[in-house]
Amino acid sequence: MKLGNRVYDVAAIGSHYALDKDHCFPVLLSIKKGADRLALCPHWGKEGHTSLTSAKHTTPKDFNSAKVNRDRDMSVPVEKDDGGQPKGKKQKIK
Ligand SMILES: [Zn+2]
Repeated sequence: MKLGNRVYDVAAIGSHYALDKDHCFPVLLSIKKGADRLALCPHWGKEGHTSLTSAKHTTPKDFNSAKVNRDRDMSVPVEKDDGGQPKGKKQKIK
């Protein structure tokens, strides 16, 4: 699953933290805080996805996003798709 500038192996993360396969990983892995994370929920309003404390939105007690981001079994940086744009150069919006 791609989120921000990393690609997460949600199967590996899920098994590491004993989460359901259908856990709401975008909400779990978001760097946003509090209710802002819910903006990433792809199943908003469905059972288990109705609030921050819903079953699929819980954060495991020992969850450590820094570890997930460090552990290459759980996430890797997004491969830059080199579209020929020089790095750091912003495209002007016309
Ligand atoms: Zn959700």
